[in-house]
This record gives sequence, C-alpha cells and structure tokens, in this order.
Amino acid sequence: MAGRLYVVATPIGNMGDLSPRAAEVLAKVDMVAAEDTRVTGKLLARIDAKNRMVSYREQTERRLSEDLVERMLAGESVALVSDAGTPTISDPGYRLVHAAAEAGLEVVSIPGPSAAIALLSVSGLPTDRFRFEGFPPSRVSARRRLLESLRGAGTTVIFYESPHRVVEFLGEVADALGDPPVAAGRELTKMYEEVVRGKASEVAARFSTREPRGEFVLAVRVEADDDELAGEALDREVAALADSGVPAREIARRLKPRGAHRRDVYDALRRLGAADADDEEQVVEEEADDDGPAT
Ligand code: SAM
Repeated sequence: MAGRLYVVATPIGNMGDLSPRAAEVLAKVDMVAAEDTRVTGKLLARIDAKNRMVSYREQTERRLSEDLVERMLAGESVALVSDAGTPTISDPGYRLVHAAAEAGLEVVSIPGPSAAIALLSVSGLPTDRFRFEGFPPSRVSARRRLLESLRGAGTTVIFYESPHRVVEFLGEVADALGDPPVAAGRELTKMYEEVVRGKASEVAARFSTREPRGEFVLAVRVEADDDELAGEALDREVAALADSGVPAREIARRLKPRGAHRRDVYDALRRLGAADADDEEQVVEEEADDDGPAT
C-alpha cells in the first residue's frame, strides 16, 4: 500500500502549540522532510521521536520531491515540516505536495499554527476577506508598486516583514494607502509577544524609538473604493491628523487613497478652524485644475 504525505504545522514559538495529533504523526512516519534538520531535530527530541530526517529546502525541492514521491509510492510515509508554522506558507514544500498529489498519493493536513492567521485573528480588523502577501519585495520601487496595486482592494492584507525593515515598510504603507489601520504582531506566542494596533504611522512611530527585535507579522486594512471616506468619518480623520500637527496639504494627500475629496478635506479643516487663508487659496487653485479626489 502506498504511503502518505502529512503536511504538519509546528509551533511558531510556544511548544505548547504542538498538537497531540502533530506529535503522534511526527513520531510514527518513516521520514521527516524538514527545512532545517537541526531545528526539527530539537522538536523531535522533545517528543522522543527518532525518525530519519531529510533536509528539504527551496534549492533541493525539485530533486528531493521525486525521491520522496518514489519512497511514498513504495509504501513509506513522510511528514513535511518547516522551521516554524505551517509548511508551504512563505516556506518551501508546495512542489512536494504537488508532486505527491499528481502521483495519486494521499496528502493529509495536520493543521496548526501560522503567524499570518494568528495575527489576523487578534488584529481587530475585518476578517471576512483577507489577502496574504508574504514578504514584501526587497526593492523599494517594487514595494511601492505592490502597495499602490492594493488601493481600493476592500480587504485586510497580511505581510511578513523583517525587524530591520518593519518601520520603513509601515511608513511606505502609510504613504501609499492613506495611513490605514494596521496591527503589528511581534514575537507571537513567545515571552515578549505584543500586538500593536493603530494607524500605520502610529505603529511605525511606536517601533521607531529603537531597532525592533524579533519576528513581525503585519495586518493592513485596505478599504474598498466604494467605502469613500466622507461625512463624520472624514471629519474625525481630519481632526486627528490636524491635532497631530499634520499640514493641510499633507492631510489631503494621505486621505486621497481612501477616497476623500480634497474639497471635503479642506471644508472639514475650515470647520475645525485649521485651514488658513493660504490653504484656502491653494485649494481654490487646485480645485480649478482638478475636481477629483484630493491630491
Ligand atoms: N510558515 C510560517 C507560518 O506559517 O507562519 C511562516 C514562515 S516565514 C519564513 C517566517 C516569517 O513569519 C517571519 O519572518 C515572521 O515575519 C513571521 N513569523 C513567524 N513566527 C512569528 C511569530 N512568532 N511572531 C510574529 N511573526 C512571526
């Protein structure tokens, strides 16, 4: 009888999150395909499992997939694990899953932790629709293009990000998406776990005092185009930004991606007594050029 491929989620920090079923499967399979055999070796030692391991990385995926599929066809069972969390989610493994499924083998999910879902569930942001973007591109221009392409998407977007770039990236999110609400999860399930919620610029400021440490996952709320920011909601946003000393023109620029019209932003500022004569002159000129959303 053919063996099976088990895709086994492992803890993202707290060993208590290894499910009894995951431990049972890891102990009984013939072979564990691990991203890093030293990391997984420690996990196996904790549950007293002494399986054979093979190192399964992006560079070796193709070749190893064939070998592992042959073993499974010959009756061996294999567990795929990554260093932490759910295999194949910003981790190697999908080629093995694909090859096993193509070969007619049974692929069994042993679900469990994933940083993306862990943060989403505590983010306090809408979860009815969400989009996973994994690690943002390393080039600034590619990151800008990606963020611009998200405008108006009407969804919550999850990113993984490294600690040394998280502040910069949140600044880019604020610029491109009108300073949207975000949640940043740091070191989830670990001793220094925290979730910081607020506007992208506020969360960036919170982490910018010193180089943040640990692992980060971000959830960014992107409103739909038709959720145009207007009326009282716009007044509240404008007041909050004006109170923190953001200049009128900058407020209009930041709120534009959320559908706020420049004229409405300046009207709100005038009601608050926060737009001066120069601003008004400016807006009259700009309105003459363009009557669309604020620029
Ligand atoms: N497959 C994994 C999963 O399901 O969560 C993700 C692997 S990806 C290579 C690793 C990234 O996930 C880290 O760089 C970080 O962005 C995020 N991450 C992993 N563990 C985390 C944790 N405990 N807290 C916050 N983010 C975490």
